Amino acid sequence: MNMTYTTQMNAARQGIITKEMEAVAAKEQMDVQKLRQLVAEGKVAIPANKLHTCLEANGIGSMLKTKINVNLGTSRDWKDLDMELEKVNDAVKMGAESIMDLSSFGDTQKFRRKLTSECPAIIGTVPIYDAVVYYHKPLKEITSEEWINIVEMHAKDGVDFMTIHVGINKNTAKRFKENKRLTNIVSRGGSIIFAWMEMTGQENPFYEHYDRILDICQQYDVTMSLGDACRPGCLADAGDISQIEELVTLGELTKRAWEKDVQVIIEGPGHMPLNQIEANMKIQQTVCQGAPFYVLGPLVTDIAPGYDHITAAIGGAIAATYGASFLCYVTPAEHLRLPDVNDVKEGIIASKIAAHAADIAKGIKGAADWDYEMSTARKNLDWEEMFRLCIDPEKAKRYRAEAKPEKEDTCSMCGNFCAVKNMNRILDGEIVNIYDE
Ligand code: SF4
Repeated sequence: MNMTYTTQMNAARQGIITKEMEAVAAKEQMDVQKLRQLVAEGKVAIPANKLHTCLEANGIGSMLKTKINVNLGTSRDWKDLDMELEKVNDAVKMGAESIMDLSSFGDTQKFRRKLTSECPAIIGTVPIYDAVVYYHKPLKEITSEEWINIVEMHAKDGVDFMTIHVGINKNTAKRFKENKRLTNIVSRGGSIIFAWMEMTGQENPFYEHYDRILDICQQYDVTMSLGDACRPGCLADAGDISQIEELVTLGELTKRAWEKDVQVIIEGPGHMPLNQIEANMKIQQTVCQGAPFYVLGPLVTDIAPGYDHITAAIGGAIAATYGASFLCYVTPAEHLRLPDVNDVKEGIIASKIAAHAADIAKGIKGAADWDYEMSTARKNLDWEEMFRLCIDPEKAKRYRAEAKPEKEDTCSMCGNFCAVKNMNRILDGEIVNIYDE
């Protein structure tokens, strides 16, 4: 049998089972042939650049466990590479399947290469940011060729997926200008490429030269993450003409990528009222033919800076229940500053809770077992087992230690009134006095 292939999708379409498919099928407790079929159809992506040899592969698709991504990287105001690496290591330990390096300052290539040579998580980047740093010149002087060269550089550096803001072409930009929004374009990459198009009068280079971008992605097996430049930045802009217009373009671009066996994920909102999320997920799945959906939230209200890990987790849980398969974490620092180590931790925990809640609702194999085990430990007042099963054992242990109960088997919430303890005892035929115990 011919065992040569370009991308995971190309292999799947030839009937080849790759070692990455084997690994993903084992993690997901899924028949590998079923997984292969989903990869062949584009419903599951396995981002796995051939040069990222230390990768522990994961699959992204709505029938698999919901995955989370953690954004990190340097900025002009935050240049500490070691701190960013510490965050990467923490994120991986805490179970983030993917890290996006959004560095926009300093020696970005050094950091990127370090990630793809040492980090087992999926690595994603946004080449648009890097181009601005790399070329060290005014935005409008960057040429189409130079934008594309950066994509190739990231592919050669072993990046598994790249966000490319290809959907904001001249047509989408025109519709955007005709249909005023409250918060315009809030996507960093989207705003850069829109400004470049306005200043140069040229078509989006990623759109104009899309076939070349696809050839690069095919050569290295980079998964295309089709960026949503027009993702709503506030509830008032959710589901508007710009967002839907861009989504339709992304649907067309998905088909073209699949024709070259390039894997695709689609990026999504953004800020969105809770009651619009389900419909939005369904539209995306129809327009983009079931390609995995990667959501940045959605944040279900605009009024909670400092708590946007919660607004995003609410939206993320609903989005993943109705079709999204990849959640980009949001930290309490969102809209305020670059997250510190603690913000990163809180953002990851919130996203993992959202992902897990959705996995239970979707009936993902094994998801509810975790909760069953926790409830069993709770019923048995087995505190060590409860800590072992906690999503954040460190915090749980600290809380309990900070308020020592009089009776070791209960907690300081109810003490002698502990319903769990009293029910266990009465059902065992014991006397329950409560007041003098
Ligand atoms: S004391 Fe109250 S909160 Fe604590 S374990 Fe017992 S029932 Fe639960």
